[in-house]
Amino acid sequence: MFPNDKKFYLWVLGCQMNESDAERIEALLEFYGWSRTKSEQEASLIVVVACSVRQKAIDRVYGKAKEWRRRRKKSELKTVLTGCVLDSDKENMLRFFDLVIPVTEIFQLVGLIGGEADPAQNDYLCLPAKYNCNFSAYVPIMNGCNNFCSYCAVPFTRGRERSRPAQEVIDECKKLIEGGCKEIILLGQNVNSYHEGEYDFPKLLKEINGLQGDFWIRFLTSHPKDLSSDLIEVMAEGGHITPYLHLALQSGDEKILQSMNRKYGPEHFLSLIEKVRQAIPEITISTDIIVGYPGEGEEEFQHTADLMRQAKFDMAYFGRFSPRPGTTAAKLDDNVNAEEKARRENFLNDILIETATANNQKYLGQNVEVLVDGWKKGLCYGKTASFKIVAFVGEKSLIGQKVLVKIKEIGPWSLKGEKI
Ligand code: SF4
Repeated sequence: MFPNDKKFYLWVLGCQMNESDAERIEALLEFYGWSRTKSEQEASLIVVVACSVRQKAIDRVYGKAKEWRRRRKKSELKTVLTGCVLDSDKENMLRFFDLVIPVTEIFQLVGLIGGEADPAQNDYLCLPAKYNCNFSAYVPIMNGCNNFCSYCAVPFTRGRERSRPAQEVIDECKKLIEGGCKEIILLGQNVNSYHEGEYDFPKLLKEINGLQGDFWIRFLTSHPKDLSSDLIEVMAEGGHITPYLHLALQSGDEKILQSMNRKYGPEHFLSLIEKVRQAIPEITISTDIIVGYPGEGEEEFQHTADLMRQAKFDMAYFGRFSPRPGTTAAKLDDNVNAEEKARRENFLNDILIETATANNQKYLGQNVEVLVDGWKKGLCYGKTASFKIVAFVGEKSLIGQKVLVKIKEIGPWSLKGEKI
């Protein structure tokens, strides 16, 4: 049925969770004798791990799928769509793909390639991963979400929360550290609601922090309503846990937060930031903010701007509201026009530039450890434990190593220094 050189092409869109899922899909296909190719043309199997956060990403999938449909008519090409796919897109996509499946049902792929799935293997998170990087690895600890934020499609595309067995997570981390991995990034849509047996997230984090080796631990992403004092306490212990927290604000207005179904108010958010900064003074805090959510007038928007000034974020990822079919917010009037959304984003970005630059002053003249993850034209790029981007002159061979750098220059988004 398939040519002997069983080759697959994997196209991954969206967030770190999708990238991590793709590493498990790759390992599964390799187990059945397939190898990954960078060329779509030589592949006889194409797997797309899609993202539905923006319509643009789904439109790109439609564009490609039409092209592949023409190839499918003349060849043995098989195509599979997984990842985050909205119900409203599923039916349409079935015209273009052989399989459209949630990632939790990725084992159906085995039948499509003529293999026999192991009936005992029915949890995709338990699959081994084919890590894309040998010094930094994603380790998923849970999948799905129960929160139903009004604008978000994830609870519909990934289903309800399911936590992975703690021992399995710990074993995967151990193995990675023994193999020389220097950075472990624990992943979940809301890691703070991790729960498995006697383990909650702080307990799991503490246990991984107790492992021996030279490694950093990061985690993504945290919901403000579930960020507990226990977690802050464990983070403050330091050790392998990095002083970095991503805490999604979304809006600084009480009414908008209610409409978003976020289940916290601006004051609670600010009190968390204060607690975290008191416990871990060197912490870097980043956030997500949506501009132009339905009903966000100038007053509501200014509440977000005020909160940003008070929270003094190091980084913020802005999203201009766009309705996702099937979500509650899609039924609301998208009443902020595109031009105004862009203005609001720029306005908030100016605040961010000020707070991030001020926060970075403390690095001037400091020696910081940098895990190098890239190199271009004689410059090494990497990140500190506190997730600050650092550039310095160095050899490409330093990629994957931790290097001590003296910081000589700072900007809002990155630091520049000299290798010591
Ligand atoms: S917490 Fe909210 S924004 Fe995050 S994945 Fe769940 S529903 Fe989406």
